[in-house]
Parts: sequence; C-alpha cells; structure tokens
Amino acid sequence: MGMLELRYLPVGMGATNCYLVMNKDTRELVIIDPGDDPAKIKQAVSKIEGKPVAILLTHGHYDHMMASNQVKKEYHIPIYAPGAEREVLADSAKNLSGGWMMKPYHVQTDYWAEDGEVLHLAGFEIRMILTPGHTEGSCCYYIEEEHVVFCGDTIFLESCGRTDLPTGDMSQIRKSIHTILDMVPDETELYPGHGEATTAAHEKAFNPFV
Ligand SMILES: [Zn+2]
Repeated sequence: MGMLELRYLPVGMGATNCYLVMNKDTRELVIIDPGDDPAKIKQAVSKIEGKPVAILLTHGHYDHMMASNQVKKEYHIPIYAPGAEREVLADSAKNLSGGWMMKPYHVQTDYWAEDGEVLHLAGFEIRMILTPGHTEGSCCYYIEEEHVVFCGDTIFLESCGRTDLPTGDMSQIRKSIHTILDMVPDETELYPGHGEATTAAHEKAFNPFV
C-alpha cells in the first residue's frame, strides 16, 4: 500500500468489519460500513487523528449501516451507496433493521453511485463495482493503485455472504465473485465485511464458490 493506512474495527453483534481507509499524507479518511457502533468509530478516528470525508456502504444490511446517520452528523460528511441498493436501504424488511432488529432504520444517503463509477475521496480513486447476489445492490470498492478491494458480504475468506435473505441470489453471487477475481491482479488484498482478510490469488485457489 502506498499512501493508504488501514484500520479495521469489528462493530456490533455481527462483528461487522468497519474499515477506516486513511490517506497517510493528509490523514483524510473514508469510513466503509460503519456498522452500528458510532462511539467506537469516533474513538478510533480521534486516536489516529483522522479527518473523515465520507461514508461508503457496501450494501444495505442493518449490521453494516446502522451508525451511518450518527457518523454523518458527527463529521458533517456525505453517505455514498450503490444506486442499485436503493430499495434494500429504504425497506426495513429487506435490510433487516425492521424484522430482525425491530428498529426500522432509514439511512440518509447523499449520493447513489453507478456501477464502475470512480469516486475521488481522500486522495484515492475508489471504483464502485456492482456485485449483486448477497443483496441485489451489493457492491465492492476497489482502489487499484493500492491493490485493495473492500468486498462487503460478497467475498469472505474461502466463502461468501449468504444468499437466503431478501433479494439474495446464489447464481448472481457466483458471477459477482468471478467479476472481482477476473478484474484484479492476484496479489490484490481483499477485505471482507466479516472475518479475516484474504487475497485474490488465495480465493481463486480455495474459494468453493469459484
Ligand atoms: Zn449483509
């Protein structure tokens, strides 16, 4: 990694990985999937003296997004999400904040990204790649220059996210895993929404869904 400094904090009951993607030179950072623990994020950000500039969501599930509005308010920063996930984010049954959590949550999304769109944030070029399957609008964020992909619940270490939840689709997630692994060089590091990091080479060899 060149100018990227990465921190991750497991947040909430589902131990969702919230990533702080910081530019070492400016200390600007983007927060990927703030989960549901705004206090923990605030503490981690102050500790590294980071300057948050944006929140990025990989998909709409409650365990990835329920701190979004508080974190947005705390730092006065915008929330980015894939346009294809608009309905899941808006529907508390589909994003499980209503059904499982009994706490219907409405994310105040500021910007809907399109498939392949490059977001210029914190000095990074962050490409949003639509990877449906876990949900209909799930995505990965790829920073080519830094050789990293943030996969949300699309790719896990030797596994993938479940597809039995609303809008999930097993054949689509298989295609999406291929989309990512075909696109990035083997040494690219993959940072999932849950569990340990992996690499493209490792998943090509060992992921049973490939
Ligand atoms: Zn999920």
